[in-house]
Amino acid sequence: MFHYHVWCQLMGDGCPDIGWSRLDSVRDNGGAVPGYNVDERAYFNESQTAKPITLNCPWCRTQNVYDLRWMVRKKKDRLPPGADERDRARFQKSQSYMVLLDDKVACKNLRCRKRFDISGIKTMAYLTD
Ligand SMILES: [Zn+2]
Repeated sequence: MFHYHVWCQLMGDGCPDIGWSRLDSVRDNGGAVPGYNVDERAYFNESQTAKPITLNCPWCRTQNVYDLRWMVRKKKDRLPPGADERDRARFQKSQSYMVLLDDKVACKNLRCRKRFDISGIKTMAYLTD
């Protein structure tokens, strides 16, 4: 089992913010970058996990704990066949990380139940072994 540094929101400036456009590309094509032989997905073992986080509904201002889904990409021990030098260099630099999959939650307050955007938290965190 591995643990992530800390919640990204606690890391402040130490945490890279990849932004939503980068997140979308990770979602849509697994982080593949044109020009490389090996898809970035081949570097990682993928899994999903859920982590609780406290959010405030902007509509009714109720605070609740929500289980947000994260995609975990844990770096493999070695590159797959077909990798060239550039892939190798990129693989060396890559780290295990997780990306937030959810961007909205439904308010748990039964009298509200409105959906709202998850904001104010970082959407990516690097993992340490
Ligand atoms: Zn609400």
